[in-house]
Amino acid sequence: MSTIAANISTLGARIHAAATKAQRDPAAIGLLAVSKTKPAEALREAYAAGLRDFGENYLQEALGKQAELSDLPLCWHFIGPIQSNKTRAIAENFAWVHSVDRLKIAQRLSEQRPAELPPLNICIQVNVSGEASKSGCAPQDLPALANAINALPNLKLRGLMAIPEPTEDRAAQSAAFATVRNLLDSLNLPLDTLSMGMSHDLEAAIEQGATWVRIGTALFGARDYGQP
Ligand SMILES: *Cc1c(COP(=O)(O)O)cnc(C)c1O
Repeated sequence: MSTIAANISTLGARIHAAATKAQRDPAAIGLLAVSKTKPAEALREAYAAGLRDFGENYLQEALGKQAELSDLPLCWHFIGPIQSNKTRAIAENFAWVHSVDRLKIAQRLSEQRPAELPPLNICIQVNVSGEASKSGCAPQDLPALANAINALPNLKLRGLMAIPEPTEDRAAQSAAFATVRNLLDSLNLPLDTLSMGMSHDLEAAIEQGATWVRIGTALFGARDYGQP
C-alpha cells in the first residue's frame, strides 16, 4: 500500500471512531483532501485509494492540477482567500467554495456562475477566533450575510466553514467548534454543512457536527512551501 493509501485508511479509522463516539453516522462525514502544494500525481494516488473531493487554496495552482487530472471525475472545492479578480475562474471551475466571507464576492460568484452548471455550493467562512484571524465573517454580521447569499440565484448556501485558532487543548477545540455549530443552528435557513476540522483537530470537529473535515498533512504529509 502507498503512503497516501495507508494515510487514508488511518484517517478513515479516526473518522469512524470519532463518529461512533459522537453517535453519528460515519457516512455523514466527508473527507476533503486538501492538496495545496502537492503535485497532481499525489491527487491521482488519493483518487485511486477512493477519494473524490479535493480542496485547493491557490487558484493558478488549482487550475493547473485540474488540467492535468481532467481524465478523472473529481469534485473541486475552493478553500482559500478570494480576491475579486479571481471570482470568474472560481465560478467556472469549482463545485464548492468554502471561504466566502463577504457579499461582494458572493454576488460576483453568482453572476459569473455559468448557466449550464448547477448552482455553486457555498459555505460562509466565519471567524470564531476574534483578532487571531483576519479571514472570516464576524459572528454578529453572519445573519445578514447568510440571508443575502441565500437569495442569490446561482449559489446554493450550504452552511459554515471555520478555521479556529490552532490549539492542542481538546476542550478549547470543542468549544470553538460548538460556537460554529450554534451559529449554524441560529440561522433560520435549511443548511446542512459544517466544514470544520483539520489534521490535528478532526475528532473535536466531528464531535461538534462537522460534515466535511478538510485534511492536508495527515493525508499527503507535511507541506514544503519552498518547492516550486
Ligand atoms: C491547509 C488547509 C487545511 C489542511 O490543514 P492540515 O492541517 O494540513 O490538515 C484545511 N483547511 C484550510 C482552509 C487550509 O488552508
